[in-house]
Amino acid sequence: MVKVVVLATGGTIAGVGASGTQPGYSSGEMSIEDMIAAVPNIENLAHIQGEQIANVGSQDMSFAIMIRLACRINELLQSEDVSGVVITHGTDTMEETAYFLNLTVKSTKPVVMTGSMRPSTAISADGPLNLYNAVGVAADPDTAKRGVLVVVNDRIHGAHALTKTNTTSVETFLSPINGLVGTVIYGSATYFRAPFRKHTYTSEFSVDGATRFKRVDIFHACADMPADLIDCSISQGARGIVIAGHGNGNMNKACLAAAKSAAAKHIVIVRSSSVASGTVGRNVEVDDDAGQFIVSDELNPVKARILLMLALLKDRSLEEIQELYFTY
Ligand code: ASP
Repeated sequence: MVKVVVLATGGTIAGVGASGTQPGYSSGEMSIEDMIAAVPNIENLAHIQGEQIANVGSQDMSFAIMIRLACRINELLQSEDVSGVVITHGTDTMEETAYFLNLTVKSTKPVVMTGSMRPSTAISADGPLNLYNAVGVAADPDTAKRGVLVVVNDRIHGAHALTKTNTTSVETFLSPINGLVGTVIYGSATYFRAPFRKHTYTSEFSVDGATRFKRVDIFHACADMPADLIDCSISQGARGIVIAGHGNGNMNKACLAAAKSAAAKHIVIVRSSSVASGTVGRNVEVDDDAGQFIVSDELNPVKARILLMLALLKDRSLEEIQELYFTY
């Protein structure tokens, strides 16, 4: 039987409330041992080993934990007797950690993340089946070379594509631009396709020796957005700024001028979008060539920020950084 290691980081899947019918609960309360013990027949899918990496609500996920996670996954997957890894994680920042790991794990073996929308104490808690399905997917040899996947509510999403879309529903994750990678029913996966972009074993990024990243901020565009937010961010040490723009990555004239002068000072400006779906293209309503701006292509603002933080680990030209957004 194959061996799957489950790395726990917290989240609602490890959350506990006072009763089964109240909305309030605390994330990251249960231990990995108790979470595994709550899943009937999971031992029929794989030999399971649990490990606690952290126990936080994912709103408190940090780059320090992400780096620790990436290093531990790389270490585990080098071992011949480990077939795959499952990571339990809160859903709030699942897409950020999934994308980070998609770029920094160096293995062809399955890496599968899961979480839940209801705490372990809720009526119809979704955590146990999500964990069962994630282990089934991680134990499946057909999962190899698909990059980091997220398994929630019987769906298999690629790290590049997924995003959280609902604050409370168990059907919260969607992959709006590219669609699902597959589905999973009681631990048995059906794949439709592999993720298209480069990832994991083909990624040039590494966290070996990385302890901290350069600061990259995100601004959410809104009517009459004040341009001095951009100046403030730079004065606080930001080396990059992601604009979660209107529509196709747009911002008002004042912000455009501030972004242009920031780019002239070698602050990397990435135009992404606050819209739920669609790409941000170069030189559509904004002259990116004149402004020296980067476009995020398919990446939403939080993932565009992670790619830029990894890109800024070494010196790269703006052309090289732009190419990364079309590659990853
Ligand atoms: N706030 C929780 C978390 O991200 C929500 C969840 O896990 O569903 O940890």
